[in-house]
Amino acid sequence: MSEPLTTGGDATGTDTEGGDVTGTDAADRHAALADRAAELDAADKLAAVRDRFVLDGTVYLDGNSLGALSTGVLPRLTEVVGREWGELRIRSWEESGWWTAPERIGDRIAPLVGAAPGQVVVGDSTSVNVFKALVAAVRMAPEGRDEILVDAATFPTDGYIAQSAARLTGRTVRAVPAAEIAAEAGATTAVALVNHVDYRTGRLHDLRGITAALHQAGALAVWDLCHSAGALPVSLDADAVDLAVGCTYKYLNGGPGAPAYLYVRQELQPRFDSPLPGWNSHADPFSMAAGYEAADGAARGRVGTPEILSLLALDAALDVWDGVAVPDVREKSLGLTDYFLECVAALVPAGRLESVTPRAHAERGSQVSLRCADAGAVMRELTARGVVGDYRRPDVLRFGFTPLYTRYADALRAARVLATVLEGTA
Ligand SMILES: *Cc1c(COP(=O)(O)O)cnc(C)c1O
Repeated sequence: MSEPLTTGGDATGTDTEGGDVTGTDAADRHAALADRAAELDAADKLAAVRDRFVLDGTVYLDGNSLGALSTGVLPRLTEVVGREWGELRIRSWEESGWWTAPERIGDRIAPLVGAAPGQVVVGDSTSVNVFKALVAAVRMAPEGRDEILVDAATFPTDGYIAQSAARLTGRTVRAVPAAEIAAEAGATTAVALVNHVDYRTGRLHDLRGITAALHQAGALAVWDLCHSAGALPVSLDADAVDLAVGCTYKYLNGGPGAPAYLYVRQELQPRFDSPLPGWNSHADPFSMAAGYEAADGAARGRVGTPEILSLLALDAALDVWDGVAVPDVREKSLGLTDYFLECVAALVPAGRLESVTPRAHAERGSQVSLRCADAGAVMRELTARGVVGDYRRPDVLRFGFTPLYTRYADALRAARVLATVLEGTA
């Protein structure tokens, strides 16, 4: 599933910017691309949002692994630690709203994933939430359905957790390519776990169509939104998704290890039977009752004491979304990835790279993955020259385009440096 980048250039730059180009054609090509970047940046509706982030001269294209720090987080954490913890101590569970933070912050994420309030709760890692969602889905599925379908190219943790969930619930796991899940779902399918965007290739899957096909087969749909929420529109309510999970440290910029979120569709909440029914999900936690009675609503997805410091860092990080419309984010994401692909095709010597990210907008997330010989060494060299993406073994260079803080000029610089590095290793 890869697409060759055919219009290879002949840039022979040797400096770190790749700007020292010989030959008039190459110089013209560089100038034309630079003009385009300047035009596109000037017309960018989101340009001012970049000022909400702490950035430097690096071209940071790894926001799909760890989003950049936003300016409001450090002052807010200073207040949380100094005042709420340092001075108010235990009183903050009530007076500073710590106890209800998981649902309150869930409601801030909800509009970014197309969910009405009361269906998203924040806490624990994505891995843990995959476990909660899958086991609960199996428990809600019709009797006699013994199969869990898992996206064959899934991020590994989802697959590992699905195996364990299957063993615990007496089901089996069958790996199916995401694009074939709609066709493969049948009378024995309890639930399918699908990654909305493939973390390796950047391929975007048809959330609405796959969910509808699963429902047609009488099965439930659990979606992993790690690489989509914050980068493109997600319509969980409108597309009738049953359960969803996602992490907040990628395109939501919540910080390293920021807690994940769990969406449970409102009408399924009464039947959501958590496999991790900790005291925070009890209907009356401070009754300290011996018997468990599940809380109503999204709180049913909670487990134990929330990770307050990282939760409140995330809360502050979500301020960058004020006044930002997700369709504008999508438009810029596609603009950036189109432009980057165009720059790479124009500047990088032919035959050195192959894009494994689909060209069709309907199938593209917010990253560009390029297959490249010696990708590990190439990415180390790019990083040393101030262009940070990442490397996925064995041969993929991954460039994540976070529309809130990436400029077209950054995309051009990344392509120029990539061309220079590949010239040097030819
Ligand atoms: C990043 C990512 C995860 C990460 O899970 P953690 O529990 O936060 O380590 C899970 N699934 C997908 C699809 C991811 O991209």
